[in-house]
Amino acid sequence: MSHAGNRVGTWIGWVFFADLANALALTFGYMFSKSVTMQYPDKEKWLPYARYRGHHFLKRDDQGEIKCVACELCARICPCYCIEVVPYEDEKGNRRPAKFEIDTARCLFCGLCEDACPADAIALGQQYEFSSFSSPDLVIGRDDLLAKPGKAMTGGGVVAAHLNTDGDVLVETSELQGYNWWRNIRRT
Ligand code: SF4
Ligand code: SF4
Repeated sequence: MSHAGNRVGTWIGWVFFADLANALALTFGYMFSKSVTMQYPDKEKWLPYARYRGHHFLKRDDQGEIKCVACELCARICPCYCIEVVPYEDEKGNRRPAKFEIDTARCLFCGLCEDACPADAIALGQQYEFSSFSSPDLVIGRDDLLAKPGKAMTGGGVVAAHLNTDGDVLVETSELQGYNWWRNIRRT
């Protein structure tokens, strides 16, 4: 190999060595930095941002009437066909849902139903703890959807919580605003 070729080979070798040294420094840095583990569900719980798409809820208007006009647009646009709406006409001639069910086991939480609704009647909230061993339990009806928590404008942090297994398994917290837990994580 020529002299110039040797020099190029040496420089390439140094470049790779520098990369290797950088990678090792990063690895050892993580090995000796404080590990960060969210203590969910025993001691800590994540409060999602308001933009999070969690469990659906149905809304009421100022008079306490369900806002849904049973137009079925949400059911039509749903890519998983997991919404079923059966309309009826109330005594005032208003169209309302006699049946409104969402099979959350099939739902993608894409939010298309919320976007399509012309009556601002359905939205995806911040609740994410609704797993079940039974598929039928994941089919949520109209009255349960009306009782589901709406969007809180707080969120985006971690709060102190505790696991309550006395009845249902619940992760309970009384705090509304979380602290920025991510700042504990080493970034570089
Ligand atoms: S969030 Fe998406 S998948 Fe789920 S019910 Fe709405 S439209 Fe269907
Ligand atoms: S939730 Fe909205 S889109 Fe779905 S049936 Fe009711 S009014 Fe129509």
